[in-house]
Amino acid sequence: MNGVDFKWSGFISEYPVNDLGSDAYAFIEILYPLCRSITGAGTRQTLQLVSQEIDLNVSEVATGTQVFDWTVPEEWNIRDAYVEDMAGNKIIDFKLSNLHVVSYSMPVDETLSKEDLDSHLHSIPEHPEWIPYRTSYYNKTWGFCLPENQRKSLSDEQYKVYIDSDFKQGSLSYGECYIKGESKEEFLLFTHICHPSLCNDNLSGISIATQLAKYLSSQKLNKSYRIVFAPATIGSISWLSQNQDKLLNIKAGLVLAVAGDSGSLTYKRSRNAGSYIDRMVLNVLETSGKEFNTLDFSPYGYDERQFASPGINLPVGSLMRTPNGCYPEYHTSADNLDLVKPEYLSDTIQAYIDVLNIFDNNTTFINLQPYGEPQLGKRGLYRKTGGLQDIEESILAKLWVLNLSDKDNDLLAISIKSKMTFKTIQCAAEELFQAGLLEHVKE
Ligand code: ZN
Repeated sequence: MNGVDFKWSGFISEYPVNDLGSDAYAFIEILYPLCRSITGAGTRQTLQLVSQEIDLNVSEVATGTQVFDWTVPEEWNIRDAYVEDMAGNKIIDFKLSNLHVVSYSMPVDETLSKEDLDSHLHSIPEHPEWIPYRTSYYNKTWGFCLPENQRKSLSDEQYKVYIDSDFKQGSLSYGECYIKGESKEEFLLFTHICHPSLCNDNLSGISIATQLAKYLSSQKLNKSYRIVFAPATIGSISWLSQNQDKLLNIKAGLVLAVAGDSGSLTYKRSRNAGSYIDRMVLNVLETSGKEFNTLDFSPYGYDERQFASPGINLPVGSLMRTPNGCYPEYHTSADNLDLVKPEYLSDTIQAYIDVLNIFDNNTTFINLQPYGEPQLGKRGLYRKTGGLQDIEESILAKLWVLNLSDKDNDLLAISIKSKMTFKTIQCAAEELFQAGLLEHVKE
């Protein structure tokens, strides 16, 4: 028997993606209240909650550690913060929304004039009901964020401001889930974990990455998978700096963020356009029958820019829904539990699983009957096959696989040329292989 060593992984079976979207939403609800930042208790607690779902290895990188050109900052923690009017009413209260305080705010306890307070306030005039999300990681200051309407209504001469926060020699936390398959070749999934109560950016990423890790752990896999949960920028740089020995096995990767809103899927290409990850993702999107958008690589955005730095240069793209900065609720209190929906999370999860299926099962066969078309009828290959839409499609897929299985084309190349889904091509190859018409080419 030819190619007895070849086995498909478990992906080809149908999977309950709708359930995964509901589970992802439920996990977002659990994570939503925590006050995350690039360091501190909320981020650590988030990783603890993730580790209750999947096998997560959490690392701590001490304050002061040099990571490439950066230094891990002091750990920031906050317990309480408010602004009180002259009558003693808390008019801005961190306990009602953690977005009210600029992340990494210094401790403060003083009474200020309205003008002095105003220089520490942030609001969005175009969206007067929303609280903006602001950070000041590397420039020590303090600040409060509030709706523009509330800011305009401030009429007392003086206000008491109180922030109970501290900086200490602590650490930055990141988590890593490694799922081992037959081959050492790896797919890297990265999601940032540093945003407080904001759903699309970035709880959708954390939650989908957790569901994907769970899903992958339940499969028999040909390839290996590494799923990294780390703060943006300083976190991805810390991870890269501390794991340089692992980078050689990474053959493709995706940065996962803004993944639960109603927009179409958007793919941002990797640094070297036409890379393996670009071909896999674009194939999934082009054969999905749904609308999608693409963006060329640029050295701005999420952590793909660290993976794409010239010294690292990994083939990592970003598969998202509406890009960061391109939806009005981005980085505001309106990026809440109403903006993300289970069905959009499911749709993103489906696309990711389709990409991972290609990565796990893409391989090359050779046609053992290349002189004329082999007679499919006498081998029972004209039957309707389970799971495919109609008999014409399944026969056409077999003809494509037979025609292009000449050592130069892997199944992904056949899917791209035929414009048929990878799964359709995969099913056709499986039948032809079972019938002895294909031999597996060893990689
Ligand atoms: Zn963000």
